[in-house]
Amino acid sequence: MTPLKAPVTVAEALRHAASAGLPRAEAQYLLQAVLDCTRSWLIAHDTDLLSDTQQQRFQDWLSQRLDDVPLAYLVGEKEFFGLRLQVTPDTLVPRPDTEVLVQWALEQLQGLTAPRVVDLGTGSGAIALALASQRPDANVHMVDVSPGALAVASGNAQRLGLTVHAHLGSWFQPLEGQAPFDLIVSNPPYVAGNDHHLRALRHEPRSALTPGGNGLSDIAHLTKQAPAWLKPGAWLLMEHGWDQAESVASLLHEQGFRDVSLRRDLGDQPRASGGRWAG
Ligand code: GLN
Repeated sequence: MTPLKAPVTVAEALRHAASAGLPRAEAQYLLQAVLDCTRSWLIAHDTDLLSDTQQQRFQDWLSQRLDDVPLAYLVGEKEFFGLRLQVTPDTLVPRPDTEVLVQWALEQLQGLTAPRVVDLGTGSGAIALALASQRPDANVHMVDVSPGALAVASGNAQRLGLTVHAHLGSWFQPLEGQAPFDLIVSNPPYVAGNDHHLRALRHEPRSALTPGGNGLSDIAHLTKQAPAWLKPGAWLLMEHGWDQAESVASLLHEQGFRDVSLRRDLGDQPRASGGRWAG
């Protein structure tokens, strides 16, 4: 990619990005962040000049984006369930598909007063914070094994003014001594270790994407451990890969979960499964 020659206008910067292969909407999004302006401002100011610093940043972000660095890492944030979350390379970028899991969790919490909820492997805190924002009465806990991720999640909670309890450690281990929960929800690593998509996702934490093997070991662990932490009748809900629904349902049945069911994502693929602990 040939570097831009200064000075350039907004329109020239966008043309440059397009010729380098970046979709126009992404280029506009990056330029908006560089110029700290709205989309309508950008569209109305085609002939405005970028400063040297702005142009350098845009060029730098453009080359990183073309190297598959997620947009969210470049601009430092991602919207999830109406919340602006800070994200860093310590955390997975929250996906819109995971909103399906949040929606399902909220449905299961209907009718419960001050429910106790835990989000295992919270990353940026997306699920825990979405639930806390929708259910201010809930007692929400979030767990992550990565100190970097948990710091991002706690920072997000603070910025959003949401009260959640953060626990550092692996899955249930840091919850020792906690009372049972009304809901356990998780978007664990589930991509198979040899999945070719991992290459394009290489800038995100590998440990948040895949446990290796067939991708099911963490889901199996959660399914096995969850009954000890659930109130009778409480739900375990987990995100999984499009082709893992049958395996996850079998794991849930084997452990004695009832009402095992499935939710599909925005692309109509199986994306989350869960069951109710009969006690
Ligand atoms: N949904 C993510 C992806 O396929 C994976 C998230 C995960 O492993 N929990 O890009």
